[in-house]
Amino acid sequence: MRRHARSTLIAALGVALVAAAGTPAGARPRGPQPGAAGIGDSYYPGYGNGGYDVGHYDLVTRYDTATNELTATATLTARATQDLSAFNLDLFGLTVDAVTVDGAPARTARAGSELTVTPAAALAGGATFRTVVRYHGRPQLYDMPHTGKSGWFRTSDGVVVTGQPEGAASWFPCNDHPRDKATFTFAITVPKGRTAIANGVPRGTEAGADGWTTFRYAEDSPMAPYLTTATAGDFKLTVSDHGGRPVVFASKGAPSAPLRRTPEVVDYLAGLFGPYPFSSMGGIAGGDVPGLSFALEIQTRPVYSGSASDLSTVVHENAHQWFGDSVALHDWKDIWLNEGFATYAEWLWADAHGGPKADATFQQLYKQPQNAGHWAPATADPKVAGLFGSSVYTKGAMTLHALRRTVGDEKFFAVVRAWAARKKNANGTTAEFVALAGEVAGKDLSAFFQNWLYATTKPPAPPRALRPVSTLDARAARAYVAAFAVREATHRRF
Ligand SMILES: [Zn+2]
Repeated sequence: MRRHARSTLIAALGVALVAAAGTPAGARPRGPQPGAAGIGDSYYPGYGNGGYDVGHYDLVTRYDTATNELTATATLTARATQDLSAFNLDLFGLTVDAVTVDGAPARTARAGSELTVTPAAALAGGATFRTVVRYHGRPQLYDMPHTGKSGWFRTSDGVVVTGQPEGAASWFPCNDHPRDKATFTFAITVPKGRTAIANGVPRGTEAGADGWTTFRYAEDSPMAPYLTTATAGDFKLTVSDHGGRPVVFASKGAPSAPLRRTPEVVDYLAGLFGPYPFSSMGGIAGGDVPGLSFALEIQTRPVYSGSASDLSTVVHENAHQWFGDSVALHDWKDIWLNEGFATYAEWLWADAHGGPKADATFQQLYKQPQNAGHWAPATADPKVAGLFGSSVYTKGAMTLHALRRTVGDEKFFAVVRAWAARKKNANGTTAEFVALAGEVAGKDLSAFFQNWLYATTKPPAPPRALRPVSTLDARAARAYVAAFAVREATHRRF
């Protein structure tokens, strides 16, 4: 830990002397500067913040499930990526009581969801620093243009927390963008008889003298803030073990049959994509959650609305543990890298478990006319309004299947496994995926990806159907595609 108020001043004076001696007129010495108020996302320029990189969040919260009152302390350990005079955190609503940086009180200012922190002394680029934010209030839902409600979903007995694309800031101060992943520890205290569920490995519960109970969890793999949860309420917690990893289910009553199949689903997907990336797994069946009509790939603990009654959604959200959570987005524009893979995992599961063959599903969709919803907008540039549309989900999956037909099974799954392995716990872009696919397949695929990811007209048919599609296959695929469209319209999965 280094804080260099004095040496920074000397360095600035040195620069000023050099500038006076010989630099062109107009050049000014640069001392520590404020970090940017946004991380640089092309669709959401205000999301996240610049100037630092969070390594770890320690979140200690006390949450009254009856009144929605939250009292919390967030400790962020971060590294300055420039000489910093001030930096922003994202925090939506809530009252900030005190902020310290490396133990010294810091000044704060609020503007919308930006919390600007000015440390007593500037931070040197490269230095690790610790920010402690004490805050309280009643968290609220984000209402996002185009993408709907996000973050803190209040229920009759507590809260279900799920925040894509931005919503973590509804309950803790953070750098709310997947580009800044960090490890997390959680200690959530709730009234007696209530249960709290966060990400990662359970680290025990303890009863306080006041009868409230503290639930502890630790997520030791880097995680994007939007993939956190602090769900609390009247839940049954079921903890078991699968191959040395804790399996944590939270549900109203007994976990549903699809939820209980999570370890089997994870094993099946590991056979396709390579080793499961995290040290725990599970899921949260949120029950009746007003405003929540989708599932989300919360890291190690996907959140489902209702009882988690749809096995295909369990497959989808667990596929995201590889693609979306471990391999995270660098930019929201590339969302097909999450959703195309998770949707294709559903096709592959169906193919292997008595449903339609993936090739039949692809053909059923490929023969749809040009005005069908999935051909536009561009899969790899859907704009904010198309972020969770069928050109991202359906055509994203079709792109992967077309790639498989173009390069063959062996190379296709080598590409998928290489992507999961090389980008494990990191971030990836479409350009990086296109380059990796070409490298692993040993083939120039730029025209292929241009047609499938950037054009808005139906691409040329890929070669080599994997196997002949029978009438029975075609009928099954028609029913599957129709059912999928109904599910998308009534009950979206993210
Ligand atoms: Zn999804």
